[in-house]
Amino acid sequence: MNLASRNIGWIEVVCGPMFSGKSEELIRRLRRAEIARQRVQIFKPTIDQRYSEDHIVSHSELRIRSESVRDAADVQARLDWRTEVIGLDEAQFLGHDIIDLVVRLADMGKRIIIAGLDTDYLGRPFHPMPELLAVADEITKTLAICMQCGNPAKHTQRLINSADLVVVGAAGMYEARCRRCFEPNLTKPVAGKNGSPVVETQPATTAALQPQSAG
Ligand code: ADP
Ligand code: ZN
Repeated sequence: MNLASRNIGWIEVVCGPMFSGKSEELIRRLRRAEIARQRVQIFKPTIDQRYSEDHIVSHSELRIRSESVRDAADVQARLDWRTEVIGLDEAQFLGHDIIDLVVRLADMGKRIIIAGLDTDYLGRPFHPMPELLAVADEITKTLAICMQCGNPAKHTQRLINSADLVVVGAAGMYEARCRRCFEPNLTKPVAGKNGSPVVETQPATTAALQPQSAG
């Protein structure tokens, strides 16, 4: 919340699909905090090194410096306790312990601004985002533009064939889709024994974190 008074303790969550402007919004809010001469620290998970190791970079090339962390313990270890505003990008990759940490930091009077995917490539809630939404003081849901029909898009459509929950990438691997155009079980026809097409669907299982190459 941009009008939140200092030291009150405040949790903001910006959630939505890929390409919906979460990083842009996070960067905008953090820049304003810096302009207000507040002490700001920004973290993103090491899993997401798509564009830069030491910056958050939006799809529109906005950027702000950041520190890479593995999990909540890493955030805590790197935190300067004088920091007033804490930014977390791609929070869906930070693990369950981030919920407690965020609440404790807010209770200490800090402002935490969190961005993350609220649903995965199958349209399921992407933990711990639902829990972070529950403890938030303010929530912003961002929508992208559906790449099929131009309507507002709430889904992240995976375009490549993988059953892993986490495949880090961007353009070409994922696109934004509206509810109508979203195909969670996007199928890839492969040749069957007798030459007839066999439909391969994506199983709804959660695989281990397996980042792949940058997109
Ligand atoms: P997120 O963090 O939600 O993935 P970003 O903040 O990194 O999103 O990028 C948002 C920007 O992505 C937009 O301002 C726009 O320039 C670009 N963009 C690319 N594809 C789309 C799309 N399908 N819908 C909306 N914006 C898109
Ligand atoms: Zn659509």
